[in-house]
Amino acid sequence: MNRFVAFIPFVCGPPQRNAFLAIRPWKAEGMPAEGRALKEARRELVEHLRRSGYIETDLVEAAMLAVPREIFVPPHNRPASYADHPLDIGHGQTISAPHMVAIMVEAMAPREGLRVLEVGGGSGYHASVIAEAIGPRGHVWSVERIEPLAAVARRNLELAGYADRVTVLVGDGSCGWPEHAPYDRISVACAAPAVPDPMRAELADGGSLLIPVGGPYVQELLRVTRRGDGFDVEDLGGCVFVPLRGRCGHT
Ligand code: SAH
Repeated sequence: MNRFVAFIPFVCGPPQRNAFLAIRPWKAEGMPAEGRALKEARRELVEHLRRSGYIETDLVEAAMLAVPREIFVPPHNRPASYADHPLDIGHGQTISAPHMVAIMVEAMAPREGLRVLEVGGGSGYHASVIAEAIGPRGHVWSVERIEPLAAVARRNLELAGYADRVTVLVGDGSCGWPEHAPYDRISVACAAPAVPDPMRAELADGGSLLIPVGGPYVQELLRVTRRGDGFDVEDLGGCVFVPLRGRCGHT
């Protein structure tokens, strides 16, 4: 049964006016000026996400504070690492806006030791935030269909220190990835025409799947929770993602 839980306005809306995130000149010792300014910008962004209600828990706040988004952003976009909007990562794909990552990681109710499948690995940023939240005993399998992006994600994960907690897989994850199932959580970072049945089947009992479902321009973020042989579906609000391509996605 569909149950409307909350409508979160502007979850993927136009970039907010984050003028306060502008990089400031720092004369600090020990860390290059750019690095220190980015760290400060990250702290300000995370505070903003908490004040705005996108971050609700200390766990997700700590995870977003820990992961340096600038590592996952191509060099020409690096100064905009902590602006709250999606950024181009090449191959027609984007790294999601920080507030969207916050919403999705909160909605998956992360805890220590979970086994997570991510579909749409992109830069590896979202997977790193999940990995940070589920700790060293958890694991993320992150599927990316574009091989050069998967290679960049692997390098980013190495640099950020999450390579041992995140395995990047290359291929079509639109129907899920049965090899490591069942998963406690599945997080899909691209838009599907409908919830793929094989993906539901890969959920552990009590596990949940987050997936944007709809047309090419706007979707609803759904949370599907497995209860034995049944599934609860909650609509968490409107969003905009790049399409999920492949056998269970858009052609
Ligand atoms: N989570 C990413 C951003 C995802 S963008 C980050 O943090 O950077 C969506 C990604 O989904 C794109 O990289 C796109 O190539 C990928 N994608 C689309 N269809 C896919 C499929 N069937 N299997 C795996 N990845 C897919």
